[in-house]
Amino acid sequence: MEIRIFTIFPEMFNGPLNTSILKRAQEKDLVQFKLIDFRAYAPSKHQNVDDTPFGGGAGMVLKPEPVYYAVETELGDLSRYEGKIILLTPQGQQFDQELAKELAQEKSLALICGHYEGFDERIRALAHLEISIGDYVLTGGELPAMVVIDAVCRLLPGVLGESASPLSDSFYEGLLEYPQYTRPREFRGMMVPEVLLSGNHEEIRKWRLQEALKRTWQKRPDLLQKKELSAEEQRLLEEIRQEEHDGKDG
Ligand code: SAM
Repeated sequence: MEIRIFTIFPEMFNGPLNTSILKRAQEKDLVQFKLIDFRAYAPSKHQNVDDTPFGGGAGMVLKPEPVYYAVETELGDLSRYEGKIILLTPQGQQFDQELAKELAQEKSLALICGHYEGFDERIRALAHLEISIGDYVLTGGELPAMVVIDAVCRLLPGVLGESASPLSDSFYEGLLEYPQYTRPREFRGMMVPEVLLSGNHEEIRKWRLQEALKRTWQKRPDLLQKKELSAEEQRLLEEIRQEEHDGKDG
């Protein structure tokens, strides 16, 4: 996958793109990043990318020209661009694992990072999609872009390698992940559940599914409402509810 990032702070990406999984993904040529500083496309000789808002008001607004010129120069004829142009904005669709999965199917992505008080409304017309990473306001679109990149890239085939898989991660199948343990078996009186030491793969699978359901039910019941449960999941969830009910009564 080819990912282009349009930003006035390309240096912010040095750490995240060149560490751990994203670094290895580039080394394996599974993803290529290109950082484009759209300040270089500002029409004025002072390279101003922002200006005061028409109608007055606080703060500065990103001008349309540098962003348009940068995106058009990089991507060429936009009607032929085989990818998604994404604007990071707190007003966008909320980013989640489903959207990460959809974006992981694309051949290429172009992420536009806003800054200052926001961007000229006409910049919106460039984008296929607007994404927010949550209901809070950050200083710029750089951190949101890194969040999107990280979540998408770890879903690309081969990126996590054979030793890890996104399939059991929280949200992948609409559930939170089950509890995980490693050595030692006992730590400060806290024991690893016996079933995980049993070597019985079917029992372990069932226990994990039940724990994932329990966690999701307790911490994020909204996720269960969105998920289509299999017959087994419905039965396990019923057992969890019953246990909880009996616990309260007892
Ligand atoms: N005044 C703008 C508003 O209320 O929508 C917020 C501007 S914010 C200070 C500057 C830039 O940071 C935005 O243009 C956007 O690119 C980025 N940004 C801030 N919060 C974000 C969020 N939650 N998700 C995605 N991008 C965000």
